[in-house]
Amino acid sequence: MNAAPDALSFDALRYRADFPLLARRINGKPLIYFDNANTAQKPQAVIEAVDTFYREHNANVSRAVHTLGAEATSAYEGARDKLARFVNAPSRDEIVLTSGTTMATNLVAYSFALPRLRPGDEILVTTMEHHANIVPWQLVCERTGATLKAAPITPQGELIVERFIEMLTPRTKLAGVVHVSNVLGTINPVRELAKACHARGIPLLVDGSQAAPHMAIDVQALGCDFYALTGHKLFGPTGTGMLWARREYLAAMPPFFGGGEMIRTVSFDGTTFADPPHRFEAGTPNIAGFAGLGAALDYVESIGRERIAAYEHELLEYATVALKSIPGLRLFGEAKHKAAVLSFLIEGAHAHDLATLLDQEGVAVRSGHHCAHPLMKFYGVPATARASLAFYNTRAEVDAFVAAIARVRKLLG
Ligand code: PLP
Repeated sequence: MNAAPDALSFDALRYRADFPLLARRINGKPLIYFDNANTAQKPQAVIEAVDTFYREHNANVSRAVHTLGAEATSAYEGARDKLARFVNAPSRDEIVLTSGTTMATNLVAYSFALPRLRPGDEILVTTMEHHANIVPWQLVCERTGATLKAAPITPQGELIVERFIEMLTPRTKLAGVVHVSNVLGTINPVRELAKACHARGIPLLVDGSQAAPHMAIDVQALGCDFYALTGHKLFGPTGTGMLWARREYLAAMPPFFGGGEMIRTVSFDGTTFADPPHRFEAGTPNIAGFAGLGAALDYVESIGRERIAAYEHELLEYATVALKSIPGLRLFGEAKHKAAVLSFLIEGAHAHDLATLLDQEGVAVRSGHHCAHPLMKFYGVPATARASLAFYNTRAEVDAFVAAIARVRKLLG
């Protein structure tokens, strides 16, 4: 197999050394962490940023004029600047800091969709969505009499784009698509979908949770209207994330949460609200977390997302060939454009048994429905095991993983 030149020059072992947890042994074996789609490990730079925040800068944001308050505000607002650059947003004011993707999709559901939906209206998503891009829409549909529809996929795990486009009707008020599927690894053609949506006046939301850690994101080039991501999969702390939305949509959205930090004036006769993005950031946020997320973005940028994507693609190809050579192994998701996620089952074995036995071998993979019940239903299985790779994983780990599966297969008999 020919690796891309960038992939060959990529020194995963060098980056791996930046992640203290990856040096652990699990059950007496070197840890092979293949659960990156669930949450990614944190580099020293992120751990230090959180630690330094609490040791040296801790204060609340925006409320205090003292030095520490200014430092905390600058760490928090600095993360907004970095996120804006990270996704190439036209303006930092279009970045709402959230606790993750789930908060971001709920914000769009309650502030954007709920006031606009009428009985008979529709929201269109795809069969491969994570529940975070399904359940918020169901909740607002229930309240309004609107309907949630799902565009079909092929057995290889690719969205049937023509069907998605046909399912956009004059009743469709919003469309949503996952950029990279957390189960199948499929990379969806967001630009094409955005064009089709816009030709019909429909805004498109993109769930970028699994794309952001693995490829360059440019919301202007993608042409979507909302883009959500979550910090903990991006090597940052849990409880951090963002929603990017076009300025005109944010400006027209009422607040979803109320409280401190999001108002201009409050009286018992009525309250006026701050401009976006602060209008959507009520209460004390995860300030230390955003200090850490800022460090995570710097770290990822210092490696280069094109290089990460090239290396991971090569690793994916290597792992795919290796897994397919295992007798009785069924791979879920063989899209042409794919990120390094490998969902699989082995004949006669339950996904949880596989994951438990692999853990004995020091290999961390996830098993379950991956918060994608409709997708499991499509494939007619209750669960899969999933290996999801990151730039700090290596071919040697893939080899050890495949050898571990061979031993597990014997045990399962
Ligand atoms: N969307 C996708 C595709 C995901 O993989 C996940 C997390 O697994 C989410 C949304 C939810 O992210 P969070 O729980 O961080 O809000």
